[in-house]
Amino acid sequence: MLLTDLQNAHEPIFIEICVSHECEKEKLESGIRIIEIPLKHEYALDRIIQKGVICENINALLYNFKHKVGVTLTEGLELDKFVLLESRHGFCPSNRSNCKIYTQRHPSSIFEITFDYQANRTRWVNPFVFGWAIAYETYKNDNVNVRNCFLCKFYKQNIYYTEWFCCLYKKFGLEKYCKSNRAIKCQYFSPNLPLIKENIEDSRYISYNIWKKGMDDKGINHNKEKAAE
Ligand code: SF4
Repeated sequence: MLLTDLQNAHEPIFIEICVSHECEKEKLESGIRIIEIPLKHEYALDRIIQKGVICENINALLYNFKHKVGVTLTEGLELDKFVLLESRHGFCPSNRSNCKIYTQRHPSSIFEITFDYQANRTRWVNPFVFGWAIAYETYKNDNVNVRNCFLCKFYKQNIYYTEWFCCLYKKFGLEKYCKSNRAIKCQYFSPNLPLIKENIEDSRYISYNIWKKGMDDKGINHNKEKAAE
């Protein structure tokens, strides 16, 4: 939802209801103020409605607002996970993982990466794209078809950052607003190498655990090299 006024007297604010995907990086970096509300069910909104005030905490994340020192409350944030299935479909489970359950592997997965959400808050990472990028890098020499439109250089956002579309839709008669798993069978897929490289660079600043099919459930931990700038 975009809050704005006809006279442009006030800076706009996006209110994002986060059900499966968090705000895209481009939108966060646009400088527009964003209130992101992770929702597991609509009743969670009652808490905000009854209170009448939105404060930054695990139930409402604020981006591009001026923070007063000492009022940011981020305790209790859990871990993100990206899962790549044998079918080559990938997803971030809607229930965030945590340090007690991240070793419970999805029965059909071939790859999982679990990572530190706190790191995202200081150096923003889109968990879905990050997961795809690391999976792509992990399997790039193994002849495993790791593809998603979010990794394709022809997948772009519209000017309002509300929808993604395939730039080649006119040229090759493709579906404009295709689902991102269209890439699995798309002959025009072309990896967005700068994006993949950027996410691999980001991985240096994030503590994460990688598990591949065949490993024991613990996977392998990678600790971040240094604090994010
Ligand atoms: S449909 Fe094909 S060309 Fe278009 S963004 Fe997806 S992978 Fe790329």
